[in-house]
Amino acid sequence: TKTVTDVVCPFCGTLCDDLEVVVSDDGKELHDVYNACAIGAEKFLHSQAKDRITHPRMRQEDGSWKEISYEEAVDYTARMLTEAKKPLMYGWSSTNCEAQSLGSEIGELVGAVMDNTATVCHGTSLIAVQDIGIPSCTLGEVKNRADRILFWGCNPAHAHPRHMSRYSIFPRGFFTGKGHAGRKMIVVDPRVTDTAKMADIHLQIEQGEDYELLDALRVALKGGELPDVVAGIPKNRINEVAETLKSGRFAIIFFGMGVTQSLGKNHNIDAAIALTRDLNEYTKAAIMPMRGHYNVTGSGQVWGWQFGFPFAVDLSRGFARYNPGETTSNDLLRRNEVDAIFVLGSDPGAHFPFSSVKKIYGLPSVAIDPHETPTTEVCKVHVPVAFVGVEVGGCAYRMDNVPIETRKVVEPPEGMMTDEEFLGRVLARVKEIKGV
Ligand code: SF4
Repeated sequence: TKTVTDVVCPFCGTLCDDLEVVVSDDGKELHDVYNACAIGAEKFLHSQAKDRITHPRMRQEDGSWKEISYEEAVDYTARMLTEAKKPLMYGWSSTNCEAQSLGSEIGELVGAVMDNTATVCHGTSLIAVQDIGIPSCTLGEVKNRADRILFWGCNPAHAHPRHMSRYSIFPRGFFTGKGHAGRKMIVVDPRVTDTAKMADIHLQIEQGEDYELLDALRVALKGGELPDVVAGIPKNRINEVAETLKSGRFAIIFFGMGVTQSLGKNHNIDAAIALTRDLNEYTKAAIMPMRGHYNVTGSGQVWGWQFGFPFAVDLSRGFARYNPGETTSNDLLRRNEVDAIFVLGSDPGAHFPFSSVKKIYGLPSVAIDPHETPTTEVCKVHVPVAFVGVEVGGCAYRMDNVPIETRKVVEPPEGMMTDEEFLGRVLARVKEIKGV
């Protein structure tokens, strides 16, 4: 066997790049993974699963699967996309930027709506950033400088398990030589999560009252008078948090879906960014969304360059339109405005409301995914592909918008296509059908 070092983990937005993977000398088998957390290691090990699907399959009338060739899958996908009036091409968060770019080219040709998983997680953050900008930084700066860490509506202990040990709470950096001992950790969460249990200060906020508490913190920073209790938190605790943040040399606010998808949505993030700006009157402060899928940030970047918008891009009129609430996947499905579904690198079957999943089930649909997922279970065609970051490399953007080149560590099963290969073939077939 041999050990491949400096491997990047393609699971969550932390994109840890210090993994070591033991593979056979011929590079065909993966034996072990070191340094990854349990969910990251599982992704690598799952590539070796004996029951892995290795051929495309098409759903039959009776609900059973029939194996088809990649040729047939390419043809079905290209025809479905060209025949549809307004196909939805959704996902794009668990694949590389190269595939995202090819997908955009197809989307442009067929007049699709391109949407990614931000639509159900940090889309509201992106709207807020467009509203008022964002004072952010890299995770390296957090590691080396941050001595006040605030986690708002996120639970990295479970969702980004190595975030705290690599970047935020525990590591010793250039100006943070005492590691954890030199940092103050604040958590705002209505639940006593495993992250909250580690905090120096846990504000157990009333569910859905994030906006009120963010505004109260802004008032407290400026020494204003507060009501006795805001969002279930007594004013002395709010003042204590404001003082803790102000007294640090570098404060960072990390926020997650607990605040992006609760009452107030993008307005909560407006307030959180405004709080960060205010804090910069007293000390250095930055704010960063805890992005989930390992390359959801990349899909926003790629579409940002190509269309000017990071998600919910409607190309059906021949130019890019963006209007979250109208051009977002669940709204389109709810209003029956799309007539074909293409899913790559995400699992709406598991994360969309049941009413949307039922709509997907009733439409022509293709799911491109190495795994069997709730989405592949409701789609007409399932195309298994190689695992990006395990069986093929490519570019991915970490949650702090730093691009990182993922690595291939093991061979995919023989004959299996990568996302890029499949999309390249679909693009060529679409051009053929359209005669362009
Ligand atoms: Fe992978 Fe995220 Fe775990 Fe790091 S924290 S090993 S990127 S799943």
